[in-house]
Amino acid sequence: MAETVHSPIVTYASMLSLLAFCPPFVILLWYTMVHQDGSVTKTFGYFMENGVQGLITIWPKPTMIAWNIIFCYGAFEAALQLLLPGRRVEGPISPAGNRPVYKANGLAAYFVTLATYLGIWWFGIFNPAIVYDHLGEIFSALIFGSLIFCVLLYIKGHVSPSSSDSGSCGNLIIDFYWGMELYPRIGKNFDIKVFTNCRFGMMSWAVLAVTYCIKQYEINGKVSDSMLVNTILMLVYVTKFFWWEAGYWNTMDIAHDRAGFYICWGCLVWVPSVYTSPGMYLVNHPVELGTQLAIYILVAGILCIYINYDCDRQRQEFRRTNGKCSVWGRAPSKIVASYTTTSGETKTSLLLTSGWWGLARHFHYVPEILSAFFWTVPALFDNFLAYFYVIFLTILLFDRAKRDDDRCRSKYGKYWKLYCEKVKYRIIPGIY
Ligand code: NDP
Repeated sequence: MAETVHSPIVTYASMLSLLAFCPPFVILLWYTMVHQDGSVTKTFGYFMENGVQGLITIWPKPTMIAWNIIFCYGAFEAALQLLLPGRRVEGPISPAGNRPVYKANGLAAYFVTLATYLGIWWFGIFNPAIVYDHLGEIFSALIFGSLIFCVLLYIKGHVSPSSSDSGSCGNLIIDFYWGMELYPRIGKNFDIKVFTNCRFGMMSWAVLAVTYCIKQYEINGKVSDSMLVNTILMLVYVTKFFWWEAGYWNTMDIAHDRAGFYICWGCLVWVPSVYTSPGMYLVNHPVELGTQLAIYILVAGILCIYINYDCDRQRQEFRRTNGKCSVWGRAPSKIVASYTTTSGETKTSLLLTSGWWGLARHFHYVPEILSAFFWTVPALFDNFLAYFYVIFLTILLFDRAKRDDDRCRSKYGKYWKLYCEKVKYRIIPGIY
């Protein structure tokens, strides 16, 4: 039986709003950034004049060139995922008691992707600025293509599930939205969620960050220091992600959220369009910060990315060594929590209650949000839209912390209560 994450009413409301508002929002964000100088007021003025018909007019048709770019990129990433060597990694035990096996070749795929992209630009084979010039069409194609992809996932979940971590909750809409399978595969080895979340979604973030930089260079003949700080911080963040990709396979996205519209659409459409948007904004806003300010922002951003990484590393090291590690120079304090799997087996997990995980139950979200702030702040404060990702991320992570707390409470019962008594705050120590 598929586990639903929110109540059916919240699921319907969020599904309807996601379907109704997110695709137009992606197009409006692109249109405002690229054609209205990043100004919400200008876009608003356009709609006052043109009404709803204005949206149809600006909505780009998914052209052949857009499909070609998406297809070549997707096929290249899929080939790297399948073919590059990597060590064998076992994922966490699933709710049905399975242990999925992965090939950890993300960092190699990341470097091969960036080297290939820069190489084809350098040797004049393909100009990345073309991607920026067709961005609206690409986002439009992704919006429709991902919807079809999610329908196929739903059908696969019914017809040919890859493991016992699958099943229907009996409601078609909820099945489509939250997904049928935890880790669907093509064959034994090609993991679809690793492809959508990591190799397509997260990789597109790095590829587009580089694209925006190259486009600004093409327009102005140089790259502004604000764009450099933004691009470097985003690349450090994505490098950190791929460095730690096998760790990501232990997180909620992979270990708990099923492959449905919510997560797949998010990774295939929202990540390339919204997550990269501070860089998209900077293309037409070559702000000069001056060396000193640029370096301060850069250092602050790298520090936040490092702390975020260290939080994840600490938790995973603690779990990997079964608590036999040092946390901030001492033996970790912990709770031994037992729980029952869906197949009725009793298992135990360790909950770390010292180090970063003793400050708040989801302290790692604080440096995550601050990192995003630091790669956006080079845009300064002319247009609030550049900050949309930071605002969105803050809402997402506060909701996620609640979802995770609810899930862990139902998984660990009295042990989670004990953890909450020991570590009182959910995200911000002393405040929330
Ligand atoms: P994680 O899945 O890594 O951590 C939460 C899980 O860890 C819980 O579900 C629980 O799983 C286990 N856990 C909880 N408390 C403890 C503890 N005290 N000791 C040991 N294990 C514990 O969280 P996220 O997936 O949310 O985050 C992973 C990373 O991804 C973070 O760096 C985050 O900032 C980033 N992120 C970024 C997003 C973005 O859009 N930019 C979105 C979401 C995350 P179990 O069932 O195993 O006990």
